[in-house]
Amino acid sequence: MTELARRTGAVNLGQGVPELDSPAALLKDVADAVLSGSNQYPPAVGFPALREAVAAHQRRRYGLDYRARGEVLITTGATEALAAAVLALCDPGDEIIAFDPCYDAYAADARLAGARLIGVPLALEGDGFALDIDALRAAVTSRTRVLLLNSPHNPTGKVFTTDELAAIADICRERSLMVVTDEVYEHLVYNDGARHLPIATLPGMWERTLIVSSAGKTFNVTGWKVGWVCGPAALVAAVNSAKQFLTYASGSPYQEALARALGSVEEWATGLRDTLRGSRDLLSEGLNRAGLRSFRADAGYFVQADVRPWGYADGVEFCRDLPERAGVVAIPTSAFYVSAGAPSWLVRFSICKHEDSIRQAIDQLIEAR
Ligand code: PMP
Repeated sequence: MTELARRTGAVNLGQGVPELDSPAALLKDVADAVLSGSNQYPPAVGFPALREAVAAHQRRRYGLDYRARGEVLITTGATEALAAAVLALCDPGDEIIAFDPCYDAYAADARLAGARLIGVPLALEGDGFALDIDALRAAVTSRTRVLLLNSPHNPTGKVFTTDELAAIADICRERSLMVVTDEVYEHLVYNDGARHLPIATLPGMWERTLIVSSAGKTFNVTGWKVGWVCGPAALVAAVNSAKQFLTYASGSPYQEALARALGSVEEWATGLRDTLRGSRDLLSEGLNRAGLRSFRADAGYFVQADVRPWGYADGVEFCRDLPERAGVVAIPTSAFYVSAGAPSWLVRFSICKHEDSIRQAIDQLIEAR
Protein backbone atom coordinates (compact mmCIF):
# COMPACT_ATOMS: atom_id res chain seq x y z
CA MET A 1 0.00 0.00 0.00
CA THR A 2 2.95 2.34 0.69
CA GLU A 3 4.23 1.53 -2.80
CA LEU A 4 0.75 2.27 -4.18
CA ALA A 5 0.77 5.61 -2.35
CA ARG A 6 4.15 6.47 -3.86
CA ARG A 7 3.06 5.48 -7.35
CA THR A 8 -0.26 7.35 -7.28
CA GLY A 9 0.78 10.36 -5.16
CA ALA A 10 -2.04 9.55 -2.73
CA VAL A 11 -2.04 10.71 0.92
CA ASN A 12 -0.59 7.75 2.79
CA LEU A 13 -2.68 6.91 5.84
CA GLY A 14 -1.61 3.27 5.49
CA GLN A 15 1.63 2.41 7.25
CA GLY A 16 2.06 3.65 10.84
CA VAL A 17 5.22 5.66 10.23
CA PRO A 18 5.03 8.88 12.24
CA GLU A 19 5.37 12.23 10.47
CA LEU A 20 5.72 13.92 13.86
CA ASP A 21 8.74 15.57 15.52
CA SER A 22 11.01 13.97 18.13
CA PRO A 23 12.29 15.75 21.28
CA ALA A 24 15.06 18.15 20.17
CA ALA A 25 17.25 17.37 23.21
CA LEU A 26 17.08 13.66 22.42
CA LEU A 27 18.23 14.22 18.83
CA LYS A 28 21.10 16.41 20.02
CA ASP A 29 22.13 13.84 22.61
CA VAL A 30 22.38 11.18 19.89
CA ALA A 31 24.49 13.45 17.68
CA ASP A 32 26.77 14.23 20.64
CA ALA A 33 27.05 10.53 21.50
CA VAL A 34 28.08 9.69 17.91
CA LEU A 35 30.62 12.51 17.75
CA SER A 36 32.09 11.62 21.12
CA GLY A 37 32.74 8.06 19.96
CA SER A 38 29.85 5.91 21.20
CA ASN A 39 29.95 3.86 18.01
CA GLN A 40 31.04 0.36 18.94
CA TYR A 41 29.08 -2.59 20.33
CA PRO A 42 27.25 -1.85 23.55
CA PRO A 43 27.12 -4.65 26.14
CA ALA A 44 24.94 -7.50 24.84
CA VAL A 45 22.30 -6.79 27.51
CA GLY A 46 22.41 -3.03 26.84
CA PHE A 47 24.10 -0.08 28.55
CA PRO A 48 23.59 -0.09 32.32
CA ALA A 49 22.25 3.51 32.22
CA LEU A 50 19.41 2.53 29.90
CA ARG A 51 18.61 -0.62 31.87
CA GLU A 52 18.48 1.55 35.03
CA ALA A 53 16.21 4.04 33.24
CA VAL A 54 13.84 1.27 32.10
CA ALA A 55 13.71 -0.22 35.60
CA ALA A 56 13.02 3.24 37.10
CA HIS A 57 10.29 3.85 34.50
CA GLN A 58 8.51 0.59 35.35
CA ARG A 59 8.71 1.35 39.10
CA ARG A 60 7.61 4.99 38.77
CA ARG A 61 4.71 4.39 36.38
CA TYR A 62 3.37 0.98 37.37
CA GLY A 63 4.96 0.06 40.72
CA LEU A 64 6.68 -2.89 39.00
CA ASP A 65 10.06 -3.90 40.41
CA TYR A 66 12.76 -5.16 38.04
CA ARG A 67 16.46 -5.24 38.80
CA ALA A 68 18.40 -3.42 36.08
CA ARG A 69 20.93 -6.24 36.24
CA GLY A 70 19.36 -9.49 35.06
CA GLU A 71 15.69 -8.50 34.82
CA VAL A 72 15.96 -5.87 32.06
CA LEU A 73 17.35 -6.56 28.58
CA ILE A 74 17.81 -3.98 25.80
CA THR A 75 16.90 -5.21 22.31
CA THR A 76 16.84 -4.08 18.68
CA GLY A 77 13.32 -2.70 18.92
CA ALA A 78 10.26 -4.47 20.22
CA THR A 79 10.46 -6.55 17.04
CA GLU A 80 13.59 -8.37 18.16
CA ALA A 81 12.33 -8.59 21.75
CA LEU A 82 9.15 -10.35 20.60
CA ALA A 83 10.98 -12.74 18.28
CA ALA A 84 13.58 -13.60 20.92
CA ALA A 85 10.88 -14.08 23.59
CA VAL A 86 8.89 -16.44 21.38
CA LEU A 87 12.04 -18.37 20.37
CA ALA A 88 13.03 -18.60 24.03
CA LEU A 89 9.68 -19.82 25.34
CA CYS A 90 8.27 -22.01 22.56
CA ASP A 91 9.18 -25.37 21.12
CA PRO A 92 8.05 -26.80 17.78
CA GLY A 93 4.38 -27.82 18.04
CA ASP A 94 3.54 -25.30 20.75
CA GLU A 95 0.65 -22.88 20.37
CA ILE A 96 0.64 -19.15 21.02
CA ILE A 97 -2.59 -17.23 21.48
CA ALA A 98 -3.06 -13.61 20.39
CA PHE A 99 -6.17 -11.49 20.03
CA ASP A 100 -7.27 -10.99 16.45
CA PRO A 101 -6.68 -8.70 14.62
CA CYS A 102 -3.02 -8.65 15.60
CA TYR A 103 0.33 -7.19 14.63
CA ASP A 104 1.73 -9.16 11.70
CA ALA A 105 5.07 -10.06 13.32
CA TYR A 106 3.37 -12.42 15.79
CA ALA A 107 2.50 -15.12 13.26
CA ALA A 108 5.97 -14.90 11.73
CA ASP A 109 7.61 -15.17 15.17
CA ALA A 110 5.55 -18.26 15.92
CA ARG A 111 6.63 -19.83 12.65
CA LEU A 112 10.29 -19.08 13.37
CA ALA A 113 9.92 -21.10 16.56
CA GLY A 114 8.01 -23.91 14.79
CA ALA A 115 4.97 -22.93 16.83
CA ARG A 116 1.51 -21.90 15.68
CA LEU A 117 -0.28 -18.64 16.32
CA ILE A 118 -3.94 -19.05 17.25
CA GLY A 119 -6.03 -15.90 16.79
CA VAL A 120 -8.90 -15.27 19.21
CA PRO A 121 -11.09 -12.59 17.60
CA LEU A 122 -11.97 -9.53 19.64
CA ALA A 123 -15.73 -9.03 19.70
CA LEU A 124 -17.20 -5.98 17.97
CA GLU A 125 -19.30 -4.21 20.58
CA GLY A 126 -21.01 -0.93 19.70
CA ASP A 127 -18.31 1.37 18.39
CA GLY A 128 -15.44 -0.58 19.96
CA PHE A 129 -13.71 -3.93 20.45
CA ALA A 130 -14.11 -6.17 23.51
CA LEU A 131 -12.61 -9.31 25.01
CA ASP A 132 -14.58 -12.50 24.29
CA ILE A 133 -13.55 -14.44 27.37
CA ASP A 134 -15.38 -17.63 26.31
CA ALA A 135 -13.54 -17.63 22.99
CA LEU A 136 -10.25 -17.23 24.84
CA ARG A 137 -11.04 -20.06 27.25
CA ALA A 138 -12.04 -22.32 24.34
CA ALA A 139 -8.80 -21.57 22.45
CA VAL A 140 -6.48 -22.79 25.23
CA THR A 141 -5.29 -26.37 24.67
CA SER A 142 -2.69 -28.60 26.26
CA ARG A 143 -0.24 -27.23 23.67
CA THR A 144 -0.80 -23.56 24.50
CA ARG A 145 2.39 -22.16 25.93
CA VAL A 146 2.19 -18.39 25.57
CA LEU A 147 -0.45 -15.67 25.49
CA LEU A 148 0.83 -12.74 23.45
CA LEU A 149 -1.08 -9.72 24.73
CA ASN A 150 -0.88 -6.36 22.97
CA SER A 151 -2.38 -3.49 24.94
CA PRO A 152 -2.79 -0.70 23.90
CA HIS A 153 -3.69 -2.66 20.82
CA ASN A 154 -2.61 -2.37 17.19
CA PRO A 155 -4.57 -2.14 14.91
CA THR A 156 -7.80 -1.40 16.86
CA GLY A 157 -6.69 1.27 19.38
CA LYS A 158 -8.29 -0.79 22.14
CA VAL A 159 -6.97 -0.52 25.71
CA PHE A 160 -7.84 -3.66 27.68
CA THR A 161 -9.82 -2.75 30.81
CA THR A 162 -8.83 -3.81 34.32
CA ASP A 163 -11.71 -6.31 34.38
CA GLU A 164 -10.66 -7.80 31.06
CA LEU A 165 -7.05 -8.09 32.22
CA ALA A 166 -8.17 -9.76 35.45
CA ALA A 167 -10.20 -12.32 33.49
CA ILE A 168 -7.27 -13.02 31.17
CA ALA A 169 -4.93 -13.35 34.16
CA ASP A 170 -7.27 -15.91 35.77
CA ILE A 171 -7.02 -18.11 32.67
CA CYS A 172 -3.24 -17.71 32.46
CA ARG A 173 -2.84 -18.80 36.08
CA GLU A 174 -5.36 -21.67 35.79
CA ARG A 175 -3.75 -23.02 32.61
CA SER A 176 -0.12 -22.16 33.51
CA LEU A 177 0.42 -19.94 30.50
CA MET A 178 3.38 -17.64 30.08
CA VAL A 179 2.51 -14.12 28.97
CA VAL A 180 4.46 -11.93 26.58
CA THR A 181 3.05 -8.41 26.49
CA ASP A 182 3.56 -5.91 23.71
CA GLU A 183 3.25 -2.49 25.33
CA VAL A 184 4.84 -0.29 22.65
CA TYR A 185 1.87 2.12 22.73
CA GLU A 186 1.95 2.43 26.53
CA HIS A 187 2.34 6.24 26.47
CA LEU A 188 -0.25 6.86 23.75
CA VAL A 189 -3.57 6.47 25.59
CA TYR A 190 -5.89 9.38 24.73
CA ASN A 191 -9.17 8.88 26.52
CA ASP A 192 -9.51 9.92 30.14
CA GLY A 193 -11.55 6.81 30.87
CA ALA A 194 -8.84 4.42 29.62
CA ARG A 195 -5.59 3.68 31.44
CA HIS A 196 -2.71 1.42 30.51
CA LEU A 197 -2.19 -1.25 33.14
CA PRO A 198 0.48 -3.91 32.57
CA ILE A 199 -0.98 -7.36 33.27
CA ALA A 200 2.24 -8.08 35.21
CA THR A 201 0.85 -5.88 38.03
CA LEU A 202 -1.98 -8.37 38.73
CA PRO A 203 -1.58 -11.04 41.43
CA GLY A 204 0.52 -14.03 40.37
CA MET A 205 1.38 -12.48 37.00
CA TRP A 206 4.81 -10.85 37.50
CA GLU A 207 6.46 -14.26 37.65
CA ARG A 208 4.93 -15.50 34.39
CA THR A 209 5.15 -12.31 32.29
CA LEU A 210 7.73 -10.80 29.95
CA ILE A 211 6.98 -7.14 29.21
CA VAL A 212 8.14 -5.85 25.83
CA SER A 213 8.21 -2.17 24.93
CA SER A 214 10.29 0.24 22.89
CA ALA A 215 11.22 3.86 22.24
CA GLY A 216 9.94 4.05 18.65
CA LYS A 217 6.36 5.18 19.20
CA THR A 218 6.99 7.06 22.44
CA PHE A 219 9.56 9.44 20.97
CA ASN A 220 8.69 9.26 17.23
CA VAL A 221 11.99 7.50 16.52
CA THR A 222 10.80 4.31 14.83
CA GLY A 223 14.02 4.07 12.79
CA TRP A 224 16.24 3.76 15.84
CA LYS A 225 14.98 0.35 16.91
CA VAL A 226 15.69 0.43 20.61
CA GLY A 227 13.43 -1.81 22.67
CA TRP A 228 13.52 -3.72 25.92
CA VAL A 229 12.25 -6.75 27.81
CA CYS A 230 11.48 -6.85 31.55
CA GLY A 231 10.76 -10.03 33.46
CA PRO A 232 11.99 -12.58 35.98
CA ALA A 233 15.73 -13.26 35.65
CA ALA A 234 15.41 -16.85 34.37
CA LEU A 235 13.03 -15.80 31.58
CA VAL A 236 15.11 -12.77 30.62
CA ALA A 237 18.23 -14.96 30.48
CA ALA A 238 16.41 -17.29 28.08
CA VAL A 239 15.41 -14.35 25.88
CA ASN A 240 18.99 -13.11 25.91
CA SER A 241 20.29 -16.47 24.72
CA ALA A 242 18.13 -16.14 21.58
CA LYS A 243 18.84 -12.43 21.18
CA GLN A 244 22.60 -13.01 21.32
CA PHE A 245 22.52 -14.69 17.91
CA LEU A 246 19.85 -12.50 16.33
CA THR A 247 21.70 -9.18 16.64
CA TYR A 248 23.99 -9.57 19.68
CA ALA A 249 23.64 -5.82 20.37
CA SER A 250 22.87 -2.55 18.57
CA GLY A 251 22.28 1.19 18.78
CA SER A 252 24.99 2.49 21.15
CA PRO A 253 24.41 6.25 20.66
CA TYR A 254 20.63 5.79 20.72
CA GLN A 255 20.79 3.79 23.92
CA GLU A 256 22.89 6.48 25.59
CA ALA A 257 20.54 9.28 24.61
CA LEU A 258 17.36 7.35 25.44
CA ALA A 259 18.66 6.59 28.93
CA ARG A 260 18.38 10.33 29.62
CA ALA A 261 15.10 10.87 27.74
CA LEU A 262 13.23 8.06 29.47
CA GLY A 263 13.75 9.77 32.84
CA SER A 264 11.42 12.61 31.84
CA VAL A 265 9.24 10.82 29.31
CA GLU A 266 6.00 11.91 31.01
CA GLU A 267 6.58 15.60 30.14
CA TRP A 268 7.17 14.76 26.49
CA ALA A 269 4.38 12.21 26.22
CA THR A 270 1.73 14.66 27.47
CA GLY A 271 2.33 16.88 24.44
CA LEU A 272 2.52 13.96 22.02
CA ARG A 273 -0.76 12.56 23.34
CA ASP A 274 -2.45 15.96 22.89
CA THR A 275 -1.27 16.07 19.27
CA LEU A 276 -2.36 12.52 18.50
CA ARG A 277 -5.68 12.93 20.33
CA GLY A 278 -6.36 15.93 18.08
CA SER A 279 -5.48 13.87 14.99
CA ARG A 280 -7.64 10.99 16.19
CA ASP A 281 -10.63 13.33 16.69
CA LEU A 282 -10.04 15.05 13.37
CA LEU A 283 -9.80 11.81 11.41
CA SER A 284 -12.64 10.00 13.21
CA GLU A 285 -15.04 12.91 12.62
CA GLY A 286 -13.78 13.33 9.06
CA LEU A 287 -14.36 9.65 8.26
CA ASN A 288 -17.89 9.92 9.64
CA ARG A 289 -18.52 13.04 7.54
CA ALA A 290 -17.26 11.12 4.50
CA GLY A 291 -19.88 8.46 5.27
CA LEU A 292 -17.45 5.85 6.62
CA ARG A 293 -18.39 4.79 10.16
CA SER A 294 -15.35 5.13 12.44
CA PHE A 295 -14.75 3.02 15.53
CA ARG A 296 -13.60 4.35 18.90
CA ALA A 297 -9.80 4.38 19.23
CA ASP A 298 -8.64 4.95 22.81
CA ALA A 299 -4.94 4.70 22.02
CA GLY A 300 -2.25 4.11 19.44
CA TYR A 301 -1.77 5.15 15.85
CA PHE A 302 -4.91 3.95 14.08
CA VAL A 303 -8.65 4.39 13.55
CA GLN A 304 -10.83 1.61 12.18
CA ALA A 305 -13.66 2.34 9.76
CA ASP A 306 -16.59 0.41 8.31
CA VAL A 307 -16.55 0.78 4.50
CA ARG A 308 -19.95 -0.81 3.86
CA PRO A 309 -21.74 2.57 3.64
CA TRP A 310 -19.70 3.19 0.47
CA GLY A 311 -21.12 0.00 -1.00
CA TYR A 312 -18.09 -2.22 -0.35
CA ALA A 313 -18.29 -5.58 1.41
CA ASP A 314 -14.56 -6.11 1.06
CA GLY A 315 -11.92 -3.84 2.57
CA VAL A 316 -9.24 -5.15 0.20
CA GLU A 317 -11.26 -4.01 -2.80
CA PHE A 318 -11.98 -0.67 -1.09
CA CYS A 319 -8.26 -0.11 -0.40
CA ARG A 320 -7.32 -1.00 -3.98
CA ASP A 321 -9.85 1.53 -5.34
CA LEU A 322 -9.22 4.30 -2.81
CA PRO A 323 -6.04 5.87 -4.28
CA GLU A 324 -7.77 6.26 -7.64
CA ARG A 325 -11.14 7.29 -6.22
CA ALA A 326 -10.03 9.62 -3.40
CA GLY A 327 -6.23 9.94 -3.52
CA VAL A 328 -5.91 8.26 -0.12
CA VAL A 329 -4.22 5.03 0.97
CA ALA A 330 -5.47 2.85 3.86
CA ILE A 331 -4.93 -0.80 4.84
CA PRO A 332 -7.57 -3.55 4.98
CA THR A 333 -7.84 -4.77 8.56
CA SER A 334 -8.37 -8.33 7.32
CA ALA A 335 -4.59 -8.37 6.69
CA PHE A 336 -4.14 -8.42 10.48
CA TYR A 337 -6.33 -11.44 11.20
CA VAL A 338 -4.87 -14.93 11.57
CA SER A 339 -8.22 -16.62 12.28
CA ALA A 340 -10.98 -17.12 9.74
CA GLY A 341 -14.05 -14.92 9.88
CA ALA A 342 -12.46 -11.48 9.97
CA PRO A 343 -14.96 -8.66 9.39
CA SER A 344 -13.97 -8.13 5.76
CA TRP A 345 -15.35 -4.57 5.74
CA LEU A 346 -12.96 -3.06 8.28
CA VAL A 347 -10.20 -0.72 7.12
CA ARG A 348 -7.37 0.86 9.09
CA PHE A 349 -6.40 4.54 8.78
CA SER A 350 -3.26 5.93 10.39
CA ILE A 351 -3.37 9.10 12.54
CA CYS A 352 0.35 9.64 13.23
CA LYS A 353 0.58 12.10 10.34
CA HIS A 354 0.85 15.88 9.87
CA GLU A 355 -2.45 17.63 10.46
CA ASP A 356 -2.27 18.91 6.87
CA SER A 357 -2.06 15.34 5.51
CA ILE A 358 -5.10 14.30 7.56
CA ARG A 359 -7.12 17.37 6.52
CA GLN A 360 -6.25 16.79 2.87
CA ALA A 361 -7.25 13.12 3.12
CA ILE A 362 -10.60 14.05 4.73
CA ASP A 363 -11.40 16.69 2.10
CA GLN A 364 -10.65 14.20 -0.66
CA LEU A 365 -12.70 11.43 1.00
CA ILE A 366 -15.68 13.76 1.42
CA GLU A 367 -15.43 14.80 -2.22
CA ALA A 368 -15.17 11.17 -3.41
CA ARG A 369 -18.05 10.01 -1.27
N1 PMP B 1 4.43 -4.12 18.26
C1 PMP B 1 3.44 -3.40 17.70
C2 PMP B 1 2.04 -3.64 18.15
C3 PMP B 1 3.74 -2.44 16.73
O1 PMP B 1 2.77 -1.72 16.18
C4 PMP B 1 5.09 -2.26 16.34
C5 PMP B 1 5.50 -1.26 15.28
N2 PMP B 1 4.65 -1.09 14.24
C6 PMP B 1 6.07 -3.04 16.94
C7 PMP B 1 5.71 -3.95 17.90
C8 PMP B 1 7.53 -2.91 16.55
O2 PMP B 1 8.21 -2.07 17.39
P1 PMP B 1 9.73 -1.67 17.10
O3 PMP B 1 9.72 -0.65 16.01
O4 PMP B 1 10.22 -1.12 18.40
O5 PMP B 1 10.46 -2.89 16.70
